[in-house]
Amino acid sequence: MSKTFDTFGLNPALLQALASEGYTTPTPIQAQAIPDVMAGKDLLGIAQTGTGKTAAFALPILHRLAANRIPPVPRTTRVLILSPTRELASQIAESFKSYGKHLGFRVAVIFGGVKYGPQERALQQGLDVLVATPGRLLDHMQQKTLDLSRTEIFVLDEADQMLDLGFVKPIRQIVSRIPAKRQNLFFSATMPT
Ligand code: AMP
Repeated sequence: MSKTFDTFGLNPALLQALASEGYTTPTPIQAQAIPDVMAGKDLLGIAQTGTGKTAAFALPILHRLAANRIPPVPRTTRVLILSPTRELASQIAESFKSYGKHLGFRVAVIFGGVKYGPQERALQQGLDVLVATPGRLLDHMQQKTLDLSRTEIFVLDEADQMLDLGFVKPIRQIVSRIPAKRQNLFFSATMPT
């Protein structure tokens, strides 16, 4: 059952980007997750890094954004992805940019240890996709440079690592500001309790 990407009904601009990346066959997590995420379902995915899990959520999320375009609203984001480290956050943002390169969405990454100014300017324009580490994200929420009241899709990546790093409280605070009516996608290398 080696499916190809064109069996999912993904936006043609995404198929074009995948072809230029040289991807032909979906990995198992992609084959399982893409149809459900495209349909708007919540998902708990158990997958290690290296299994193709980033594309498993990035492709159907980009498909959904493209199916219902909304002009960016200042200080908001339609999709929020939380990641434990700046390296992982940057990689995820790069994946969204490369898969979405024909779609023209606004994608930004936010993490600590760097200046606030460029991050504030990116948020001020309004975003389609924001990838962030929890601490700096909370700072922006407290400074009112970010408002999550229009966020439609929430992704928690490396959920087990986030909990090990003691991010439970910040994650709870962040999630409490996202509308209850949202799509939730959780990815973890091990089954979280
Ligand atoms: P990830 O598990 O998301 O970190 O992805 C691992 C690596 O596999 C990344 O370098 C991706 O670019 C690559 N990749 C993801 N999906 C596919 C695919 N279907 N075919 C070939 N390479 C892929």
